[in-house]
Amino acid sequence: MNNSHQQRIDEFMDEMAERNPNQPEFLQAVKEVVSHIIPFIGEHKKYQKINLLHYIAEPERVIQFRVPWFDDSGTLQVNRGYRVQFSSAMGPYKGGLRFHPSVNLSILKFLGFEQVFKNALTKLPLGGGKGGADFNPKGKSDAEVMRFCQSFMTELYRHIGPDTDIPAGDIGVGAREIGYLFGQYKRISNEFTGTITGKGISWGGTLIRPEATGFGLVYFLKEILAANDKEFKGLRVAVSGSGNVAQFAIQKLIEEGAVVISASDSSGYAYCKDGISQEMLDSLMKVKNEDRGRISDWADGTSEIEYFDDANVWDLSEEYDIALPCATQNEIDESLAEKIKSAGVIAVAEGANMPCTADAIKYFAQNNVMYAPGKATNAGGVAVSGLEMTQNATRVYWSEKKVDKKLRQIMHAIHQQCQNYGKQQNDSVDYEKGANLAAFTKVADSVLAQGLV
Ligand code: NDP
Repeated sequence: MNNSHQQRIDEFMDEMAERNPNQPEFLQAVKEVVSHIIPFIGEHKKYQKINLLHYIAEPERVIQFRVPWFDDSGTLQVNRGYRVQFSSAMGPYKGGLRFHPSVNLSILKFLGFEQVFKNALTKLPLGGGKGGADFNPKGKSDAEVMRFCQSFMTELYRHIGPDTDIPAGDIGVGAREIGYLFGQYKRISNEFTGTITGKGISWGGTLIRPEATGFGLVYFLKEILAANDKEFKGLRVAVSGSGNVAQFAIQKLIEEGAVVISASDSSGYAYCKDGISQEMLDSLMKVKNEDRGRISDWADGTSEIEYFDDANVWDLSEEYDIALPCATQNEIDESLAEKIKSAGVIAVAEGANMPCTADAIKYFAQNNVMYAPGKATNAGGVAVSGLEMTQNATRVYWSEKKVDKKLRQIMHAIHQQCQNYGKQQNDSVDYEKGANLAAFTKVADSVLAQGLV
């Protein structure tokens, strides 16, 4: 990168920092994207006409609201709810809801910003948004979760709709929460439409939506391996997290013949020397999804699973080939990236959003570890949500085979776009650059065409 581009990036990020104080995650996400876009704009006159970067980095609308609810003891609790409607350049706002105590505006703006680019890569007509609340569903009764979701939706419903904004799940928002949110939306809007995706299959959901993010991640990784004359068979894969994305990534990896050696939660990690079998995965899903238990409960009393309490899975000193971070943002910093490299890893593909810090990504690039960013690799979830919207709008249900085929095609097309825009002189692919530039051209062309300024 030449000095004038670096200077422009620094100036732009200084302005962003001034406009968005105390929003480190949002600034991190913007910097990651503009580092590729600024040099690209320098080479393409049509994007120089207006102040596109400022336009794209400012959310169209941010909604913040009070969420009061009564806990089981009859005490009033108050949480803070948000919806960041980031961009409608390419379609109605679309992105998940996160319920986690760490939720704040910085995290939701980073997720909304990433979502705009991710959704553009799917080539579906979807804008980008994200929302949630600083509510912790962990340890709450079903009745408490229901009352919280109903109160949250009682405010949110006026801002969303099947052609306006279509929320879905994310951390802490799974099948149970989507059910309660949709039920309240339907009741107060008096309509049964596809305003929320991730619905149950008997009430408007699509087949393959629960699996889509994890399956899509593995389909994308398969494309990367194929482009490097490799296949999954026998490869050892470390996975972090044990939620929706991790579970279905593990399932597809097992089907592909890979050996999955780990899963984790925020309390610790489980190491399975000989790999997680389908039977072990079934029991993990039961512990996590039905019993709402911990990874330690899964490991309890089983000789095949070694559990490490209060430990980070990326500290693993065993040898493995592929790292799939599927838990949360910034779980891999530079020192953990070094550990991952020294474990023999050839590729890191992000199941979570922004799980690698900027320094970790730089380390991978400098040390020949292939790196694929979440906005490309985990786009399968939103893609199948887009397919759910199509089925809802046309009042039809598609077969599992049809949805899975479309998911594979979408992940293949995203990989191709990354190759087209990220090809290096030595024929290797910079997936981060490829994803950013492919998505940017779509969003920017839509903005320019609509005369939005
Ligand atoms: P879930 O709530 O189902 O699972 C999240 C997992 O990550 C849990 O194992 C959780 O452990 C762990 N985790 C969450 N926060 C932390 C933390 N601060 N430190 C350590 N571990 C943590 O969420 P999903 O699987 O849906 O989401 C995982 C990631 O994938 C997120 O980054 C999300 O944005 C991203 N993603 C999800 C999509 C989807 O379709 N669901 C689509 C695209 C991206 P614990 O139970 O202890 O909190």
